[in-house]
Amino acid sequence: MATINDNYLKLKAGYLFPEIGRRVSTFAEANPDAPIIKLGIGDVTEPLPEACRNAMVKAIDDMGNRDSFKGYGPEQGYAWLREKIVAHDFQARGCEVDAGEIFISDGSKCDCGNILDIFGDDNTIAVTDPVYPVYVDTNVMAGHTGPCNDQGEYEGLTYLPINAGNHFTAQIPNQKVDLIYLCFPNNPTGAVATKNHLQDWVNYAKSHGSIILFDAAYEAYITDPDIPHSIYEIEGARDCAIEFRSFSKNAGFTGTRCALTVVPKTLTAQAADGSEVELWKLWNRRQSTKFNGVSYIVQRGAEAVYSEAGQAQIKGLISFYLENAKIIREKLTAAGLQVFGGVNAPYVWVQTPNGISSWDFFDQLLHKTHVVGTPGSGFGAAGEGYFRISAFNSRTNVEEAMQRITANL
Ligand SMILES: *Cc1c(COP(=O)(O)O)cnc(C)c1O
Repeated sequence: MATINDNYLKLKAGYLFPEIGRRVSTFAEANPDAPIIKLGIGDVTEPLPEACRNAMVKAIDDMGNRDSFKGYGPEQGYAWLREKIVAHDFQARGCEVDAGEIFISDGSKCDCGNILDIFGDDNTIAVTDPVYPVYVDTNVMAGHTGPCNDQGEYEGLTYLPINAGNHFTAQIPNQKVDLIYLCFPNNPTGAVATKNHLQDWVNYAKSHGSIILFDAAYEAYITDPDIPHSIYEIEGARDCAIEFRSFSKNAGFTGTRCALTVVPKTLTAQAADGSEVELWKLWNRRQSTKFNGVSYIVQRGAEAVYSEAGQAQIKGLISFYLENAKIIREKLTAAGLQVFGGVNAPYVWVQTPNGISSWDFFDQLLHKTHVVGTPGSGFGAAGEGYFRISAFNSRTNVEEAMQRITANL
């Protein structure tokens, strides 16, 4: 009989969101008239910017004409998109990134997982706790961990706790780790990293020959002018960091699908024979073999993000969600809760009142206010005692949810 990848059996079978769904539906069955508001999921709610829609309509017309029809595109993505990304997102911030170092993809989630294809199986891996679960689960699937304990920690991973005490930025480890996942602005805590903190990581990575996998999916939400948007704003990062970016959260592309990964040509890691190999070559080989590019239509839609109208429209979207986050912060603070994040990120990270557990707080909110959030413990053991509230919803729903919480909690 054929055998399976047994590593999949180590995964906690999609525990968090199914369990939320189960509790919400049990409650809804018992209370069919309760008007439930969901502030749990990390998905955008507002429609696609007009500039992107117009560009995609035009691109469909291109596809309907023999002269402008496009078949397979370049595996790295069209140069006109990569050049705009480099000019607006990197060079405008003083980052030395070349269009040839950009790889367009159909999502950062996939890229974060797929990147493991080009790394050895013997690397030691560090993640923050709490963490975006994709970093952990993809390493479990690749066989880079042992089994999971009762707290949901996998043997063999290095967990770096982030909490109010360290401003949700991990302490640099004493021991050597080879791959480090960092996500700023952070999902789930909404925290950001200062230039100094990222410089410490880059210095650490350079001195240990480690690689930082930097997830900047939420960079567009940064409002503080001193906070870096890219790891390449940090001196030395070209020698130790890969950056993931996405159009999902800035331009509402979660259902449209377009993202990018930056692999500097200066980045190397060691082969079994001790030689240094350029990671760009491996990732290019990997993408050319296992990926055939993002649709021309979608890339035209992403390109329109950089038009004057597109820039204005995405700024509008982001300020809309950030205003939601501000309302959430202010109302929860007024209700006596301690809140973090939500200033440079669409997530507000709430400390549960009176030290109750994340799941007890989830039940309390659901039953008393019919508001659904995400228990912090679902993002890792150190998320216990916290709760994530997302700003991705309509203004009416956010205001109504906060009204109920202030009145009932
Ligand atoms: C939403 C999100 C992404 C983006 O994923 P896509 O696959 O590009 O939609 C990446 N990283 C984090 C932490 C996210 O929350």
